[in-house]
Amino acid sequence: MTSAENTVYLDYNATTPVDPKVFKAMEPYFEKNFGNPASVNHGWGWTAQSAVKKARQQVANFLNAKPSEITFTSGATEGNNWVIFGLLHALKAENPNEEIHFITTQSEHNSILKPLVEIEKIWKDRGVSVTYLPVNNMGMVELSSIEKEIRPSTKLISAIWINNEIGSINDIENIGRMARDHKIYFHTDATQALGKVKINLTNQPIDLLTFSGHKIYGPKGIGGAYIRGTDPSVTIAPLLFGGGQEVGGRSGTLNVPGVVGLGAACEVLAQEMHSDKIRIEAMRDELLNRMHKALPKSRLNGPSPGTKRAYNNINFTFTELLDQGRDISNCSGPLSRLGSSAGSACTTGKFFHSHVLKGIGLTNGEAQCTLRLSLGRFTSQVDIDRAFDILIQALKLEG
Ligand code: PMP
Repeated sequence: MTSAENTVYLDYNATTPVDPKVFKAMEPYFEKNFGNPASVNHGWGWTAQSAVKKARQQVANFLNAKPSEITFTSGATEGNNWVIFGLLHALKAENPNEEIHFITTQSEHNSILKPLVEIEKIWKDRGVSVTYLPVNNMGMVELSSIEKEIRPSTKLISAIWINNEIGSINDIENIGRMARDHKIYFHTDATQALGKVKINLTNQPIDLLTFSGHKIYGPKGIGGAYIRGTDPSVTIAPLLFGGGQEVGGRSGTLNVPGVVGLGAACEVLAQEMHSDKIRIEAMRDELLNRMHKALPKSRLNGPSPGTKRAYNNINFTFTELLDQGRDISNCSGPLSRLGSSAGSACTTGKFFHSHVLKGIGLTNGEAQCTLRLSLGRFTSQVDIDRAFDILIQALKLEG
């Protein structure tokens, strides 16, 4: 699965290709085994049901959770929205006059931040408030800053496990422990964490966890939410009503090929995550070293490699460009052959800067000279050499 000639895909944090083993597992469920798992009276339905059952078990095995604790969603955006709105609705249904306070961090994905902004808007006159904690200059939330914000009305702490832009790894176990000590529910957006850190939900103090298929070599449009069933058991109210699928938690006909793909992706991840890490980390370190050597003033954002940083991520500010008053958008030519993500998006001549980069102290100018490169399972040594050549060509310094 090497990139087409002269192009290189290093944007695995945006999305991954489907692993051929995953695709093979999914294939029969488009055409031959097309049944609806909610059809209980015939073989087409039973075949689909048993495929969904197997996939739920595969996901649960990977997370060391119970199958009954896994609900399939359309992806992490839905899962994150569900956690926020669903928990709020459940709490308000139980006690409409209770004050409710949620804590999160300023470097979450927008699928956490935006629903929180929305619930504040809708419920602000009815006792709902949210604290958005700043992160340190490595992009991680400090435990002491969480503790200071805990109030008697705090019901949820939500912190991203691995940041999608700069790869910083939050101290999830200790945040979870703190939440548990205060009898507060703890949610983590683990979209970028599956396969990168050890996840064991039987032992880790996590009550709610959300994830997505297309970041783990599974298909797009499928994901899941883990909702702890015991000690404590968590209730989140449904957002989708209808046929009562997923034990009434999430109505809608299941995306069977997607579900099968998610299950297979988790099984492959369990087998390959160790070897993936060794290979990918070595290539990431090599590319980073070459970049540092060629561009000595430029710097890596977020934690150093080998510390609290995802092994596949480079987030690099090209200071040499900044010094020349240039930005990444005017490096367009060769750079379009490199699949990467910019720290700023330029829409109709106006820059929108990443809230994560701003959160760790980058200026707008620095964000405009920043690129994220994220490697994955199918990245090869040829890709690394080519990516380096493209970068050097694209950033060719003037003067
Ligand atoms: N959270 C994080 C950390 C992500 O990286 C993403 C995808 N960019 C999402 C949530 C949203 O996931 P999905 O595409 O499955 O909706």
